[in-house]
Amino acid sequence: MLAMVLGFIILSYLLLSRAPPTELSYEIPYSEFNSLVREREVDEVELRGDIVNGKLFVPRAIGPQGQKGAIFRSRIPAFGDDSLLLNLEDAGVAVTVVAPHEAGLFTQILLATLPWLLLLGLFLWLMTRAARNLGRFGGPKELSGFLEAPAKEAEVPEVTFADVAGQENAKREITELVEYLKNPAKFLKLGAEIPKGVLLMGAPGTGKTLLAKALAGEAGVPFFSISGSEFIEVFVGVGASRVRHLFEAAKKSSPSIVFIDELDSVGRTRGTGLGGGHDEREQTLNQILAEMDGFSGREAVLILAATNRPDVLDPALLRPGRFDRHVMLDLPDLNDRVAILKVHARKTPLAADVDMDKIARGTPGFSGAELKNLVNEAAILAARQDEQQLTMADFDEARDKVLMGTERSLAIEPDERHRLAVHEAGHTLVAHFAAHADTLYKVTIVPRGRALGGTQQLPEHERHTMPEEYLQDRIAVIFGGRAAEKELLGTLSSGADDDIHQATTMARAMVSRWGMSEAVGPVDLRESEEHPFLGREMAQPRHYSEHSAEVVDDAVRELLIKAELRASNIIKQHRDKLNKLITLLEKEETLYREQIEECLGAALEKKSIVVVSDNQTS
Ligand code: ADP
Ligand code: ZN
Repeated sequence: MLAMVLGFIILSYLLLSRAPPTELSYEIPYSEFNSLVREREVDEVELRGDIVNGKLFVPRAIGPQGQKGAIFRSRIPAFGDDSLLLNLEDAGVAVTVVAPHEAGLFTQILLATLPWLLLLGLFLWLMTRAARNLGRFGGPKELSGFLEAPAKEAEVPEVTFADVAGQENAKREITELVEYLKNPAKFLKLGAEIPKGVLLMGAPGTGKTLLAKALAGEAGVPFFSISGSEFIEVFVGVGASRVRHLFEAAKKSSPSIVFIDELDSVGRTRGTGLGGGHDEREQTLNQILAEMDGFSGREAVLILAATNRPDVLDPALLRPGRFDRHVMLDLPDLNDRVAILKVHARKTPLAADVDMDKIARGTPGFSGAELKNLVNEAAILAARQDEQQLTMADFDEARDKVLMGTERSLAIEPDERHRLAVHEAGHTLVAHFAAHADTLYKVTIVPRGRALGGTQQLPEHERHTMPEEYLQDRIAVIFGGRAAEKELLGTLSSGADDDIHQATTMARAMVSRWGMSEAVGPVDLRESEEHPFLGREMAQPRHYSEHSAEVVDDAVRELLIKAELRASNIIKQHRDKLNKLITLLEKEETLYREQIEECLGAALEKKSIVVVSDNQTS
């Protein structure tokens, strides 16, 4: 397309710039032309607009440097010269009159249409570009399909419920619908009401798309999908049109499933300032609502939508007859993580030392998508090292990579490295000896991502609530690094910056939210609140007295000082063991639970969590 437009431009340029092939002709002043006429030197002339081309009987010196020539050219004044034709007649000159641009009829047409052609070309080019942008989301690549082709795919997916690990609740709710999709007539005959819209809610990567696809795969019906975010950048009106076509296509191949991903990006509450009242968004949303209302209930088209922000959805979407069935997908717990890992490791050969249970315990908070990524990273690492199987070390490396970014080689000075080892060993020692802290998983002084080093503890069980003693121990563990630096090196470093921040945040929550301070009591005195639209904490106007604020500050400080004292007591008490641990850590760089226990002696019976990572603060 672009080539065609370019071709036009080049062609017209050539035509326009092609000078009429004549003999060498000299340009002479109009006055000189007139006197030549009067002297009857001129044989013939051709009048072409305000140009006169003429020929003399006998060559004369008419060139600018006095060259001789018979062919000349001159310019007639724009206001015309009434006497010119008479003079020419008097002098017996043969006169031909030619329309100014007769020679270039095509050129003339071209000249008239060129601006339009250019505009059209530009428009088409923009359209293809926009279409290609749509293609980025799996939309239509062809211009002709720009407005119509709505769905990424309308095939029956190959995934089934067997590919969805865990999520038992969600699966149970969805399974009911399989029967209906397989045989809608049976249900319709008995007048059964089938839900039209099902809203899948859950964090990114929890398998919402996967579950919707599995439903289609299980029932053997085509799956039409579209994503809310596709509408945001497109021309106004296109979103609504695509929704219309999508539903039309789905109805044609009913029974079928329509899946709308990221519903919140079109389905935000209309008319709110946040998100900037996007016209296109509203039109699209209205179209979706209209389509859903237009169903008579006999179409056997099921609409599934996914969102991770159900709180911002327009209430109109959730009304009866629309997305009135809600299915919640949670981040996987320990057992589900094991199951998901197994699903994704089905096709990878595993070494004997691979313990899925242990990997799952090391990945609290990972979503299904992240676990899939973990297995994939491990496979890549194994392949790079020419291994035949995936080993536990591969998984461990992959986990750190997914968690914190790639290992980096950072030049650390020997004394800085020593301080780092002291700091991390301090965390480790306190975690080991504090009764309520989580079991240690590993400690490392290998820098990775933004973290300089890290001490990782693992929960034996998932934690849903955190008891007071546990929180106190957790703060003590966080202060362990600092306390060790102070005790062994006598000075502090800026490396503990993030530790202090974490500890303070936790202590403040204990005091102002969870009522864990005698002095403050069970009052909610928090300073910020999660904002439902922005999804992050926002400072609130304070609704308690100056005095309360002071009491909170004092209570927080007291809690922190107590925890630090506990940390430094543990360190003083086990100073020899700490030194042993530091030496070992500097030698090995990374120590695992068995090595730590061997070095420090068996730990107390531990109940349970979490990663203290020392982030750089630059
Ligand atoms: P969402 O739509 O919730 O953001 P997806 O369905 O796109 O998440 O999940 C991305 C990928 O993560 C899936 O293709 C699948 O491979 C993997 N995954 C997520 N949850 C699960 C699960 N419960 N079982 C197996 N794989 C899962
Ligand atoms: Zn630290």
